[in-house]
Amino acid sequence: MKKYLRLILEILLGICLVAASTLAYLNYSAKKHLVAEVGELTEQLGEAKEALEKAHEAEPAADEHAADAGGSSAQELDALKAAFSNGIVLQDIESLYKVQKALSAERQVGMASIRLLTKGAQDEGTVAAFQKALEMAEWSNRLQTVCAAQNALAAAGQKIKVLQDCKKSADKEEPAKDAHGKKDEKAAAVHWGYEGDNGPEHWGDNFPVCGTGKKQSPLNIIGPFEKSKDVLNVDYKEGPLKMFNNGHTIQVNVEPGSTLTINKESYDLLQFHFHRPSEEQVEGKNSAMVAHFVHKSKDGKLAVIGVLLNEGKDNSAIKTLWANLPPKEGEEYLPEKVSFNPANMLPKELGFYNYEGSLTTPPCTEGVQFYILKKPMDISKDQVGKFPFKLNARPVQSLNGRKINAGG
Ligand SMILES: [Zn+2]
Repeated sequence: MKKYLRLILEILLGICLVAASTLAYLNYSAKKHLVAEVGELTEQLGEAKEALEKAHEAEPAADEHAADAGGSSAQELDALKAAFSNGIVLQDIESLYKVQKALSAERQVGMASIRLLTKGAQDEGTVAAFQKALEMAEWSNRLQTVCAAQNALAAAGQKIKVLQDCKKSADKEEPAKDAHGKKDEKAAAVHWGYEGDNGPEHWGDNFPVCGTGKKQSPLNIIGPFEKSKDVLNVDYKEGPLKMFNNGHTIQVNVEPGSTLTINKESYDLLQFHFHRPSEEQVEGKNSAMVAHFVHKSKDGKLAVIGVLLNEGKDNSAIKTLWANLPPKEGEEYLPEKVSFNPANMLPKELGFYNYEGSLTTPPCTEGVQFYILKKPMDISKDQVGKFPFKLNARPVQSLNGRKINAGG
């Protein structure tokens, strides 16, 4: 029985990890309906795991409890399988990981688990790969990965239960400075923001790449520039307006069909969102705001177009957006009969500064191409004031020997 328990625990951990990393990914690509479903499952799985662990410790009563926890986990597994069954999540994640040269053992466990969920336990090769991946990853590493994934989820605005073990290790690293503040500090460990203890200088505590990455965004754009031969072609389409407040910014989700072509490679526009003030600087100066247009290629590469917004005249496109701000945080909002063309946010000339950087929010993943347009657009002072976030810009990061290219 003990052996069996351990196996269930392993699988549960694997599923927690997959659900968590999937959630983080889905959150990023703004597939909100799936996020909510998987989020709930993650929470339940975490509880099931805790129940199992308790059963594992209390040997005499182990059989009875294990049967309970095992039963509910089987139901969760079925529900998760259903969510994964169309294979789209697997394809998406496979292509996302394909651009990264070396996959860590933890990610291999995650991938293998997703394959297992998608293709089913009938497939012998899949099961063998899952077991092999489990063997490759150290138990403690796996737990760390789950903790990291849970922190990432919490950071993405999910109300999830962080495993007891993750809390313990967080306590060890950061002893409470003040007895009264102890509870707050614990909560703060999984959130991120732009000020104080949750601010950008602390992101690296929970999201290592934010602290140690050498190709981080945003940058101060300043010469000398190298010449870029990249050719950008934007083909954005009008579609129904979908607004989303993720707690860190206002994001406009875009229906499939709007594309950016860089040279001959096509990227789909997923969403655009805003920062106040602009994250990028030009010769040391911020603009009032910036809009980031996030695109993804078929093989998972990310490219961001940045449009700087300088204080000036009223911006008619932003007038439409601000008139339809989401009433609630964390839920996609579709105002009735409002359509929008993201092209209305762009200047006519697509001259740009280009560099390789990262997501400007945790987990600060690198390998993102930035094209900051040279020509800014106007936004009125009044419109800047109506943006619901007073400060949501990461400070500029070190260039670390990168070259900034100018083109278009
Ligand atoms: Zn951004």
